[in-house]
Amino acid sequence: MIRIGGMTPVTSIDFPDRLAAVLFLQGCPWRCGYCHNPALLPARGGEAIAWTQVEAFLRRRRGLLDGVVFSGGEPTLQPALPQAAARVRALGFEAALHTGGMYPARLAALLPLLDWVGLDVKAPASRYDAITGVRGSAARVGTSLRQVLDSGIAYECRTTWHPGLYPEDELQRLADGLAAQGVRHWALQECRSASLPATGWALRDPAALGARFERFVVRRA
Ligand code: SF4
Repeated sequence: MIRIGGMTPVTSIDFPDRLAAVLFLQGCPWRCGYCHNPALLPARGGEAIAWTQVEAFLRRRRGLLDGVVFSGGEPTLQPALPQAAARVRALGFEAALHTGGMYPARLAALLPLLDWVGLDVKAPASRYDAITGVRGSAARVGTSLRQVLDSGIAYECRTTWHPGLYPEDELQRLADGLAAQGVRHWALQECRSASLPATGWALRDPAALGARFERFVVRRA
């Protein structure tokens, strides 16, 4: 059913306030230059973890883990994701999703089966296509963001940024725009890539950026 390219048995950082396992789902339609999981981008990878293995693992971890995070790649690429999320819940775990938001219709169908969503908002709309390598990507993410906010589900919006991608002024306008749309939880993550300078990541005024949100975190790589 679902194609799983990797798994982290336990993490405390990928699902806020929860101990969780992370499943890395195979396949992503975008080609961000800074992607850290290139082996997961093809729809079918070399190694795969069978769903039966995942269920057997989860049965052994009852009482030890709180939840399961579907990450990637892009998990919503796979039509079997809703069934997998439902199975995770049926086994007594919470279900979380990391997504780039490129399939809003699939995300809308999935939201009732989730307990938390981490949604990437990579850039201002004018920069999106250059980062993802796909035309029209910003509009899809905008629809997904609206759906997540309207659903009432617990969430975090995340922006992976480096001044080599676009300037801080644009980042600040992105933060303004997110806050105006009702985003209350935002994480700014340092982008590390061989194509970007290893030094020079700095914010002129992180307090001003964070003041727009109820919860704001900066994650250095
Ligand atoms: S959306 Fe995520 S998984 Fe897909 S190419 Fe971009 S960084 Fe990689």
